[in-house]
Amino acid sequence: MFWRVASALVSTRFVIIGGGPAGNTAATHAARLGAQVTLIERDIIGGAAHLWDCIPSKTMMATGGAMAFTRSIQGMGLEQQEAEVDLPGLQGRIADIQGRLQRNTIRLLESQGVRMLMGSARLVGPHQVEVVSEGVTEQIQADAILIATGSRPRIPEWCQPDGQRILTTRDCYPPKIFPTSMTVVGSGVTGVEFVHMFSSFGSNVSLVVSRQQVLPSKDPEVAAVLEDDFLRRGVRLLKGARATSIERHGDEVVVSCDDGRVVRSSHAVLAIGSVPNTNDLDLGTAGVHLDGGYVTINRHCQSNVAHIYAAGDVSGKLPLSSVASMQGRKVAEHVMGLHKVAHRHLDYDKAASAIFTEPEIADVGLAETEAFAEGRKIRVTKVPFSANPKALINNDSRGFVKIVSDPATGVVLGGSIVGRHAAELISVIALAVTANLTVSDIVESLLVHPGLSEALAEAAE
Ligand SMILES: Cc1cc2nc3c(=O)[nH]c(=O)nc-3n(C[C@H](O)[C@H](O)[C@H](O)COP(=O)(O)OP(=O)(O)OC[C@H]3O[C@@H](n4cnc5c(N)ncnc54)[C@H](O)[C@@H]3O)c2cc1C
Repeated sequence: MFWRVASALVSTRFVIIGGGPAGNTAATHAARLGAQVTLIERDIIGGAAHLWDCIPSKTMMATGGAMAFTRSIQGMGLEQQEAEVDLPGLQGRIADIQGRLQRNTIRLLESQGVRMLMGSARLVGPHQVEVVSEGVTEQIQADAILIATGSRPRIPEWCQPDGQRILTTRDCYPPKIFPTSMTVVGSGVTGVEFVHMFSSFGSNVSLVVSRQQVLPSKDPEVAAVLEDDFLRRGVRLLKGARATSIERHGDEVVVSCDDGRVVRSSHAVLAIGSVPNTNDLDLGTAGVHLDGGYVTINRHCQSNVAHIYAAGDVSGKLPLSSVASMQGRKVAEHVMGLHKVAHRHLDYDKAASAIFTEPEIADVGLAETEAFAEGRKIRVTKVPFSANPKALINNDSRGFVKIVSDPATGVVLGGSIVGRHAAELISVIALAVTANLTVSDIVESLLVHPGLSEALAEAAE
């Protein structure tokens, strides 16, 4: 009995602001390790990831993908049928998936004894967090604090989204209508996913691409496969153009570019990045340093104030849900002192990422172009899906697998996959990169036949 009381007295009071992937993973994990956790969230547990970003976008893309698939079933021994959008059905499906995920996350947090408070929080001292919940103000003492407040869409000074026809990514979910025509501004990951989504649903899409390649940060061979698909869908690509204004003229939206080109469409969506949610947190009260609004962190996700951590989009590292969750986990371990026993640092260069277009694009680790830029010796092997039995059976043999390895040791350094199920297949290369496996380890794995994964073994030969 005595030791129970004693351990309760010394239990670490850990306060987390933000219930997205970073915050809720940190909460569950820290509570499991024995912390007394309070999680504060102003919108929904699950965060922007569940409400606006990953989950609704991928749900819509799955439905759009199914529609696009029905247009390509000729050649599979089937009659061609046109699918039609059932808008209320799609809205219900998004809400249903969001609801289930939210309930699962809340159940998990409850099962670990995490105290959840719905409200807006800010710092009122280095160890004090104030939360306003349902009109009641509460101050909470903390031994450790995690800032996991995420980010929101960036809105440039030359454009005023109206939520009707000039949209941010957050205005697109749940979908109210499907635009007849859509101009997407921004050709990074979010932009190309929006092009894919709206064109799958039959909108006439134009894409404003500031450089000469969509996905400017990606391998040109990877981007080329996507550009081919866009052109096949009739997407108008405006390369080398920067949008300078977006205006509404009645039912028309006019996007003007710096090279004089003008695009007219029924709607336009901005996909030009995000800004961190730190402006209303009063982090200065605790002396926390910011850089461009992002909390600067060290490899343990600590800010310059040792007991105040940041994880997820607000930390300015890779803006991915998977990275946010892993940072949250590492923070929990650090808060509870586990890093002194066994701790593997997060290596952001080894994060796998995917783009849910068609074909899907996924990559991890060192890219061929990066290695050349660094003058680093590498071995690159590439195998197209056109020679893969399962891809032929699937009636979709677009794309390829590329593996980058160390020529001396055979250690897998990175890879990229373009093709159906690329987002799942990349996990094999991701594991190899994280665990320092060699190409022989992949070649000697007994894989399924016929399987798309056989292309991985071939590329590793
Ligand atoms: C359209 C789109 C699609 C995406 N798709 C993917 C994808 O497929 N895969 C992927 O890995 N990533 C994807 N991302 C990125 C991913 O959504 C983010 O990286 C992820 O949500 C970051 O998680 P987080 O925990 O940092 O923040 P969030 O998920 O943004 O959660 C932060 C939470 O903090 C709360 N909050 C903020 N301030 C306060 C306050 N003062 N008090 C209380 N609560 C507060 C917010 O309400 C929010 O719920 C996508 C992004 C976009 C824009």
